[in-house]
Amino acid sequence: DIVIARRPASIKPSPSIAARALVTQLRAEGREIIDFTLGESDFDTPPHIVEAAYQAARSGETRYTSSNGTKALRAAIVGKFARENGIDFTEAQVVVGCGAKQLIHAAFAATLDEGDEVIVPTPYWVSYPDMAVVNGGVPVIVPVGEETGFKLTPALLGSAITPRAKWLVLNSPNNPSGAVYTPEEIASLAAVLEQHPQVMLMTDEIYEHFVYDGQTAAAFTRVAPQLAGRTLVINGVSKAYAMTGWRIGYAAGPLKLIETITLLLSQSTTCPSSVSQAAAVAALNGDQSFVREANAIYETRRDRIVGLLDAIPGITCARPAGAFYVYPNVSGLLGKRTSDGTTLNSDLDVSLFLLQEAGVAVIDGSSYGLSPYIRISFATSLDTIDAGCAQFRRAVESLA
Ligand code: PLP
Repeated sequence: DIVIARRPASIKPSPSIAARALVTQLRAEGREIIDFTLGESDFDTPPHIVEAAYQAARSGETRYTSSNGTKALRAAIVGKFARENGIDFTEAQVVVGCGAKQLIHAAFAATLDEGDEVIVPTPYWVSYPDMAVVNGGVPVIVPVGEETGFKLTPALLGSAITPRAKWLVLNSPNNPSGAVYTPEEIASLAAVLEQHPQVMLMTDEIYEHFVYDGQTAAAFTRVAPQLAGRTLVINGVSKAYAMTGWRIGYAAGPLKLIETITLLLSQSTTCPSSVSQAAAVAALNGDQSFVREANAIYETRRDRIVGLLDAIPGITCARPAGAFYVYPNVSGLLGKRTSDGTTLNSDLDVSLFLLQEAGVAVIDGSSYGLSPYIRISFATSLDTIDAGCAQFRRAVESLA
Protein backbone atom coordinates (compact mmCIF):
# COMPACT_ATOMS: atom_id res chain seq x y z
CA ASP A 1 0.00 0.00 0.00
CA ILE A 2 1.16 3.54 -0.68
CA VAL A 3 2.07 5.41 2.47
CA ILE A 4 1.24 9.09 2.08
CA ALA A 5 3.43 11.58 3.93
CA ARG A 6 2.03 13.28 7.01
CA ARG A 7 1.64 16.76 5.48
CA PRO A 8 -0.37 15.95 2.35
CA ALA A 9 -2.39 13.45 4.37
CA SER A 10 -3.55 16.31 6.58
CA ILE A 11 -4.95 18.58 3.87
CA LYS A 12 -8.15 18.40 1.82
CA PRO A 13 -9.07 19.17 -1.76
CA SER A 14 -10.30 22.69 -2.43
CA PRO A 15 -14.10 22.61 -1.89
CA SER A 16 -14.72 24.69 -5.01
CA ILE A 17 -12.72 22.23 -7.09
CA ALA A 18 -14.59 19.37 -5.38
CA ALA A 19 -17.92 21.14 -6.03
CA ARG A 20 -17.04 21.56 -9.68
CA ALA A 21 -16.32 17.83 -9.93
CA LEU A 22 -19.68 17.00 -8.28
CA VAL A 23 -21.59 19.34 -10.60
CA THR A 24 -19.86 17.80 -13.62
CA GLN A 25 -20.77 14.33 -12.37
CA LEU A 26 -24.43 15.19 -11.71
CA ARG A 27 -24.75 16.80 -15.13
CA ALA A 28 -23.23 13.71 -16.73
CA GLU A 29 -25.97 11.73 -14.97
CA GLY A 30 -28.49 13.95 -16.74
CA ARG A 31 -29.44 16.33 -13.91
CA GLU A 32 -29.84 20.02 -14.64
CA ILE A 33 -27.73 21.93 -12.13
CA ILE A 34 -27.45 25.68 -11.73
CA ASP A 35 -23.86 26.23 -10.72
CA PHE A 36 -23.19 29.01 -8.23
CA THR A 37 -19.84 27.59 -7.11
CA LEU A 38 -17.57 29.05 -9.74
CA GLY A 39 -14.60 31.05 -8.55
CA GLU A 40 -13.98 32.53 -11.94
CA SER A 41 -15.42 34.95 -14.46
CA ASP A 42 -17.98 33.70 -16.95
CA PHE A 43 -16.57 36.09 -19.58
CA ASP A 44 -14.10 35.07 -22.25
CA THR A 45 -10.57 36.46 -22.20
CA PRO A 46 -10.64 39.71 -24.24
CA PRO A 47 -9.62 39.13 -27.89
CA HIS A 48 -6.59 41.46 -27.87
CA ILE A 49 -5.08 39.33 -25.09
CA VAL A 50 -5.69 36.07 -26.95
CA GLU A 51 -4.22 37.66 -30.07
CA ALA A 52 -1.03 38.59 -28.19
CA ALA A 53 -0.59 34.96 -27.13
CA TYR A 54 -1.11 33.81 -30.70
CA GLN A 55 1.43 36.29 -32.01
CA ALA A 56 3.92 35.25 -29.33
CA ALA A 57 3.57 31.61 -30.29
CA ARG A 58 3.87 32.47 -33.98
CA SER A 59 7.00 34.52 -33.44
CA GLY A 60 8.85 31.87 -31.48
CA GLU A 61 8.25 32.94 -27.87
CA THR A 62 7.92 29.25 -27.15
CA ARG A 63 10.90 28.55 -24.93
CA TYR A 64 11.65 28.57 -21.22
CA THR A 65 11.73 32.06 -19.77
CA SER A 66 13.66 33.19 -16.72
CA SER A 67 12.21 31.72 -13.55
CA ASN A 68 10.93 35.04 -12.22
CA GLY A 69 9.12 35.74 -15.49
CA THR A 70 9.99 37.59 -18.69
CA LYS A 71 11.47 41.04 -18.41
CA ALA A 72 8.56 42.39 -20.47
CA LEU A 73 6.00 41.00 -18.03
CA ARG A 74 7.85 42.13 -14.94
CA ALA A 75 8.12 45.61 -16.48
CA ALA A 76 4.37 45.55 -17.16
CA ILE A 77 3.72 44.54 -13.55
CA VAL A 78 5.96 47.33 -12.23
CA GLY A 79 4.00 49.69 -14.48
CA LYS A 80 0.70 48.39 -13.17
CA PHE A 81 1.70 48.93 -9.54
CA ALA A 82 2.84 52.47 -10.30
CA ARG A 83 -0.19 53.36 -12.39
CA GLU A 84 -2.98 51.71 -10.42
CA ASN A 85 -1.66 51.55 -6.87
CA GLY A 86 0.89 54.35 -6.62
CA ILE A 87 3.57 51.90 -5.46
CA ASP A 88 7.13 51.79 -6.81
CA PHE A 89 8.66 48.36 -7.15
CA THR A 90 11.78 47.47 -9.14
CA GLU A 91 11.60 44.65 -11.69
CA ALA A 92 13.80 42.57 -9.37
CA GLN A 93 11.15 42.85 -6.66
CA VAL A 94 8.58 41.11 -8.84
CA VAL A 95 8.14 37.39 -9.53
CA VAL A 96 5.67 35.77 -11.89
CA GLY A 97 4.15 32.38 -11.09
CA CYS A 98 1.68 29.84 -12.46
CA GLY A 99 -1.21 31.68 -10.82
CA ALA A 100 -1.28 33.63 -7.59
CA LYS A 101 -1.88 30.30 -5.90
CA GLN A 102 1.59 29.00 -6.73
CA LEU A 103 3.15 32.16 -5.35
CA ILE A 104 1.31 31.98 -2.03
CA HIS A 105 2.46 28.39 -1.71
CA ALA A 106 6.04 29.31 -2.59
CA ALA A 107 6.02 32.26 -0.18
CA PHE A 108 5.11 29.90 2.66
CA ALA A 109 7.69 27.35 1.50
CA ALA A 110 10.29 30.12 1.47
CA THR A 111 9.61 31.32 5.01
CA LEU A 112 7.94 28.73 7.22
CA ASP A 113 9.84 26.47 9.53
CA GLU A 114 8.05 23.67 11.34
CA GLY A 115 5.59 25.21 13.79
CA ASP A 116 5.64 28.76 12.45
CA GLU A 117 2.21 30.35 12.59
CA VAL A 118 0.14 31.83 9.80
CA ILE A 119 -2.68 34.06 10.99
CA VAL A 120 -5.79 33.72 8.84
CA PRO A 121 -9.00 35.59 9.69
CA THR A 122 -12.37 33.99 8.84
CA PRO A 123 -14.00 33.71 6.43
CA TYR A 124 -10.93 32.81 4.39
CA TRP A 125 -10.04 31.59 0.94
CA VAL A 126 -9.85 27.87 1.54
CA SER A 127 -6.32 27.40 0.31
CA TYR A 128 -4.43 29.54 2.85
CA PRO A 129 -4.62 27.17 5.84
CA ASP A 130 -3.87 24.07 3.79
CA MET A 131 -0.95 25.74 2.03
CA ALA A 132 0.45 26.72 5.41
CA VAL A 133 0.08 23.14 6.70
CA VAL A 134 1.70 21.58 3.66
CA ASN A 135 4.71 23.81 4.23
CA GLY A 136 5.06 22.89 7.90
CA GLY A 137 3.20 25.91 9.25
CA VAL A 138 0.38 26.11 11.74
CA PRO A 139 -2.70 28.08 10.67
CA VAL A 140 -4.01 30.33 13.44
CA ILE A 141 -7.63 30.88 12.50
CA VAL A 142 -9.05 34.12 13.90
CA PRO A 143 -12.85 34.00 14.14
CA VAL A 144 -14.11 37.14 12.46
CA GLY A 145 -17.81 37.47 11.83
CA GLU A 146 -20.47 39.57 10.24
CA GLU A 147 -20.64 41.99 13.19
CA THR A 148 -17.40 43.62 12.02
CA GLY A 149 -18.43 43.40 8.37
CA PHE A 150 -16.31 40.22 8.10
CA LYS A 151 -13.22 42.33 8.77
CA LEU A 152 -10.36 41.70 11.18
CA THR A 153 -10.05 44.31 13.93
CA PRO A 154 -6.87 45.52 15.67
CA ALA A 155 -7.99 43.90 18.95
CA LEU A 156 -8.58 40.51 17.33
CA LEU A 157 -5.27 40.74 15.50
CA GLY A 158 -3.40 41.73 18.65
CA SER A 159 -4.72 38.74 20.56
CA ALA A 160 -3.81 36.31 17.74
CA ILE A 161 -0.14 37.26 17.50
CA THR A 162 2.38 35.05 19.31
CA PRO A 163 6.18 35.00 19.11
CA ARG A 164 5.83 32.17 16.52
CA ALA A 165 3.60 34.28 14.24
CA LYS A 166 5.27 34.51 10.83
CA TRP A 167 2.52 35.79 8.56
CA LEU A 168 -0.76 37.62 8.64
CA VAL A 169 -2.77 36.87 5.50
CA LEU A 170 -5.30 39.50 4.45
CA ASN A 171 -7.49 39.24 1.38
CA SER A 172 -9.34 42.36 0.26
CA PRO A 173 -11.71 42.32 -1.58
CA ASN A 174 -12.40 39.06 0.19
CA ASN A 175 -13.33 35.67 -1.12
CA PRO A 176 -15.91 34.59 0.12
CA SER A 177 -17.40 37.58 2.01
CA GLY A 178 -16.75 40.40 -0.47
CA ALA A 179 -15.47 42.59 2.39
CA VAL A 180 -13.16 45.44 1.38
CA TYR A 181 -10.88 47.12 3.93
CA THR A 182 -10.89 50.91 4.02
CA PRO A 183 -7.60 52.83 4.26
CA GLU A 184 -8.42 53.64 7.90
CA GLU A 185 -8.94 49.96 8.73
CA ILE A 186 -5.68 49.03 7.02
CA ALA A 187 -3.85 51.74 8.93
CA SER A 188 -5.20 50.50 12.26
CA LEU A 189 -4.10 46.92 11.52
CA ALA A 190 -0.71 48.17 10.35
CA ALA A 191 -0.29 49.95 13.68
CA VAL A 192 -0.63 46.58 15.44
CA LEU A 193 1.87 44.93 13.10
CA GLU A 194 4.36 47.70 13.79
CA GLN A 195 4.57 46.37 17.35
CA HIS A 196 5.44 42.87 16.10
CA PRO A 197 8.40 42.94 13.71
CA GLN A 198 8.44 39.12 13.39
CA VAL A 199 5.13 39.14 11.48
CA MET A 200 5.11 39.52 7.70
CA LEU A 201 2.03 40.67 5.85
CA MET A 202 0.67 38.85 2.83
CA THR A 203 -1.95 40.91 1.07
CA ASP A 204 -3.93 39.06 -1.56
CA GLU A 205 -5.39 41.75 -3.81
CA ILE A 206 -6.49 39.51 -6.67
CA TYR A 207 -10.06 40.92 -6.70
CA GLU A 208 -8.94 44.56 -6.53
CA HIS A 209 -10.75 45.60 -9.71
CA PHE A 210 -14.11 44.36 -8.49
CA VAL A 211 -15.23 46.95 -5.97
CA TYR A 212 -18.65 48.54 -6.34
CA ASP A 213 -20.67 51.65 -5.46
CA GLY A 214 -18.03 53.95 -6.92
CA GLN A 215 -15.44 52.80 -4.37
CA THR A 216 -11.93 51.49 -5.06
CA ALA A 217 -9.77 48.97 -3.24
CA ALA A 218 -6.98 50.45 -1.13
CA ALA A 219 -3.60 48.82 -1.74
CA PHE A 220 -2.08 47.86 1.62
CA THR A 221 1.45 48.88 0.71
CA ARG A 222 0.21 52.30 -0.38
CA VAL A 223 -1.55 52.84 2.95
CA ALA A 224 1.15 51.26 5.13
CA PRO A 225 4.51 51.88 3.40
CA GLN A 226 6.26 51.51 6.76
CA LEU A 227 5.60 47.75 6.44
CA ALA A 228 6.88 47.49 2.85
CA GLY A 229 10.04 45.70 4.02
CA ARG A 230 7.88 42.78 5.21
CA THR A 231 4.83 42.93 2.95
CA LEU A 232 4.26 40.57 0.06
CA VAL A 233 1.62 41.71 -2.41
CA ILE A 234 -0.15 38.89 -4.24
CA ASN A 235 -2.06 39.61 -7.42
CA GLY A 236 -2.62 38.17 -10.88
CA VAL A 237 -4.48 38.39 -14.14
CA SER A 238 -6.90 35.48 -13.49
CA LYS A 239 -9.84 37.43 -12.11
CA ALA A 240 -9.24 40.91 -13.56
CA TYR A 241 -8.98 39.79 -17.18
CA ALA A 242 -10.95 36.52 -17.13
CA MET A 243 -7.71 34.56 -17.53
CA THR A 244 -7.98 31.80 -14.92
CA GLY A 245 -6.88 29.08 -17.34
CA TRP A 246 -3.77 30.95 -18.48
CA ARG A 247 -2.23 30.52 -15.02
CA ILE A 248 -0.38 33.79 -14.51
CA GLY A 249 -0.09 35.41 -11.10
CA TYR A 250 2.50 37.70 -9.62
CA ALA A 251 3.98 38.74 -6.29
CA ALA A 252 5.96 41.81 -5.29
CA GLY A 253 7.87 42.53 -2.13
CA PRO A 254 11.23 42.47 -0.38
CA LEU A 255 14.10 41.39 -2.65
CA LYS A 256 15.36 38.52 -0.48
CA LEU A 257 11.91 36.98 -0.27
CA ILE A 258 11.31 37.36 -4.01
CA GLU A 259 14.68 35.76 -4.76
CA THR A 260 13.91 32.79 -2.52
CA ILE A 261 10.48 32.34 -4.07
CA THR A 262 12.15 32.44 -7.50
CA LEU A 263 14.67 29.81 -6.40
CA LEU A 264 11.83 27.51 -5.35
CA LEU A 265 9.93 28.08 -8.59
CA SER A 266 13.09 27.34 -10.58
CA GLN A 267 13.14 23.92 -8.91
CA SER A 268 9.46 23.20 -9.49
CA THR A 269 7.87 24.62 -12.65
CA THR A 270 11.02 26.38 -14.06
CA CYS A 271 8.82 29.20 -15.36
CA PRO A 272 5.21 29.91 -16.26
CA SER A 273 4.05 29.32 -19.83
CA SER A 274 5.82 31.72 -22.19
CA VAL A 275 2.72 32.40 -24.31
CA SER A 276 0.61 33.02 -21.21
CA GLN A 277 3.18 35.56 -20.06
CA ALA A 278 2.94 37.34 -23.43
CA ALA A 279 -0.85 37.40 -23.00
CA ALA A 280 -0.48 38.89 -19.50
CA VAL A 281 1.74 41.67 -20.88
CA ALA A 282 -1.05 42.58 -23.29
CA ALA A 283 -3.59 42.43 -20.46
CA LEU A 284 -1.63 44.76 -18.18
CA ASN A 285 -0.36 47.19 -20.82
CA GLY A 286 -3.39 47.18 -23.11
CA ASP A 287 -6.81 48.75 -23.13
CA GLN A 288 -8.43 48.43 -19.69
CA SER A 289 -12.05 48.91 -20.77
CA PHE A 290 -12.80 45.20 -20.25
CA VAL A 291 -12.12 45.59 -16.52
CA ARG A 292 -14.46 48.56 -16.22
CA GLU A 293 -17.21 46.84 -18.19
CA ALA A 294 -16.89 43.65 -16.14
CA ASN A 295 -17.08 45.70 -12.94
CA ALA A 296 -20.33 47.35 -14.05
CA ILE A 297 -21.87 44.00 -15.01
CA TYR A 298 -20.87 42.42 -11.70
CA GLU A 299 -22.39 45.32 -9.79
CA THR A 300 -25.75 44.83 -11.55
CA ARG A 301 -25.61 41.11 -10.78
CA ARG A 302 -24.68 41.75 -7.16
CA ASP A 303 -27.66 44.01 -6.68
CA ARG A 304 -29.97 41.49 -8.32
CA ILE A 305 -28.77 38.50 -6.31
CA VAL A 306 -28.70 40.30 -2.96
CA GLY A 307 -32.29 41.43 -3.49
CA LEU A 308 -33.52 37.98 -4.49
CA LEU A 309 -31.71 36.09 -1.72
CA ASP A 310 -32.54 38.53 1.03
CA ALA A 311 -36.24 38.14 0.20
CA ILE A 312 -36.12 34.37 0.84
CA PRO A 313 -37.49 33.58 4.30
CA GLY A 314 -34.69 32.37 6.58
CA ILE A 315 -31.91 33.99 4.52
CA THR A 316 -30.21 37.29 5.29
CA CYS A 317 -27.76 38.46 2.69
CA ALA A 318 -25.30 41.28 3.31
CA ARG A 319 -24.42 43.40 0.27
CA PRO A 320 -20.74 42.72 -0.51
CA ALA A 321 -18.57 45.73 -1.30
CA GLY A 322 -16.38 43.76 -3.69
CA ALA A 323 -15.33 40.48 -5.37
CA PHE A 324 -18.01 38.35 -7.05
CA TYR A 325 -19.48 36.36 -4.20
CA VAL A 326 -22.29 36.79 -1.72
CA TYR A 327 -22.09 35.11 1.66
CA PRO A 328 -25.66 34.88 2.96
CA ASN A 329 -26.44 33.82 6.50
CA VAL A 330 -28.57 30.67 6.56
CA SER A 331 -29.17 30.39 10.32
CA GLY A 332 -32.91 30.84 9.69
CA LEU A 333 -32.98 27.48 7.86
CA LEU A 334 -31.29 25.47 10.59
CA GLY A 335 -33.63 23.15 12.46
CA LYS A 336 -36.05 22.97 9.53
CA ARG A 337 -37.07 19.65 8.05
CA THR A 338 -36.97 18.57 4.44
CA SER A 339 -39.82 16.65 2.78
CA ASP A 340 -38.01 13.36 3.42
CA GLY A 341 -37.79 14.15 7.12
CA THR A 342 -34.13 15.13 7.43
CA THR A 343 -33.32 18.09 9.66
CA LEU A 344 -30.95 20.78 8.38
CA ASN A 345 -28.32 21.08 11.09
CA SER A 346 -25.49 22.91 9.38
CA ASP A 347 -24.62 25.00 6.36
CA LEU A 348 -23.22 21.84 4.79
CA ASP A 349 -26.69 20.27 5.17
CA VAL A 350 -28.18 23.39 3.56
CA SER A 351 -25.80 23.18 0.60
CA LEU A 352 -26.55 19.46 0.08
CA PHE A 353 -30.29 20.16 0.37
CA LEU A 354 -30.05 22.93 -2.24
CA LEU A 355 -28.17 20.64 -4.58
CA GLN A 356 -30.68 17.80 -4.19
CA GLU A 357 -33.94 19.76 -3.93
CA ALA A 358 -33.27 22.92 -5.90
CA GLY A 359 -30.64 21.69 -8.35
CA VAL A 360 -28.54 24.65 -7.22
CA ALA A 361 -24.87 24.18 -6.35
CA VAL A 362 -23.39 26.45 -3.65
CA ILE A 363 -20.52 26.00 -1.20
CA ASP A 364 -20.98 25.59 2.55
CA GLY A 365 -19.55 28.29 4.80
CA SER A 366 -17.79 25.74 7.00
CA SER A 367 -15.30 25.32 4.16
CA TYR A 368 -14.39 28.99 4.62
CA GLY A 369 -14.17 28.71 8.38
CA LEU A 370 -17.35 30.66 9.20
CA SER A 371 -20.79 29.13 9.70
CA PRO A 372 -23.72 29.18 9.16
CA TYR A 373 -23.27 30.74 5.73
CA ILE A 374 -23.10 29.62 2.13
CA ARG A 375 -21.01 31.08 -0.66
CA ILE A 376 -22.73 31.94 -3.91
CA SER A 377 -20.79 33.20 -6.92
CA PHE A 378 -22.48 35.82 -9.05
CA ALA A 379 -19.94 35.49 -11.85
CA THR A 380 -22.81 34.13 -13.90
CA SER A 381 -25.60 35.58 -16.05
CA LEU A 382 -28.64 37.44 -14.71
CA ASP A 383 -30.84 34.69 -16.18
CA THR A 384 -28.92 32.09 -14.20
CA ILE A 385 -29.16 34.24 -11.08
CA ASP A 386 -32.93 34.63 -11.52
CA ALA A 387 -33.53 30.95 -12.21
CA GLY A 388 -31.22 29.77 -9.43
CA CYS A 389 -32.75 32.07 -6.83
CA ALA A 390 -36.30 31.05 -7.85
CA GLN A 391 -35.41 27.37 -7.44
CA PHE A 392 -33.66 28.18 -4.15
CA ARG A 393 -36.79 29.94 -2.93
CA ARG A 394 -39.13 27.11 -3.91
CA ALA A 395 -36.94 24.57 -2.15
CA VAL A 396 -36.86 26.69 1.02
CA GLU A 397 -40.65 27.06 0.92
CA SER A 398 -40.93 23.26 0.92
CA LEU A 399 -39.21 23.08 4.31
CA ALA A 400 -41.24 22.50 7.44
N1 PLP B 1 -6.56 34.35 -4.05
C1 PLP B 1 -7.89 34.29 -3.92
C2 PLP B 1 -8.53 35.01 -2.79
C3 PLP B 1 -8.66 33.56 -4.82
O1 PLP B 1 -9.99 33.50 -4.68
C4 PLP B 1 -8.01 32.87 -5.87
C5 PLP B 1 -8.78 32.04 -6.83
O2 PLP B 1 -9.86 31.58 -6.56
C6 PLP B 1 -6.62 32.96 -5.97
C7 PLP B 1 -5.92 33.71 -5.04
C8 PLP B 1 -5.83 32.21 -7.01
O3 PLP B 1 -5.83 32.78 -8.25
P1 PLP B 1 -4.86 32.26 -9.41
O4 PLP B 1 -4.05 31.14 -8.90
O5 PLP B 1 -5.77 31.84 -10.53
O6 PLP B 1 -4.03 33.46 -9.78
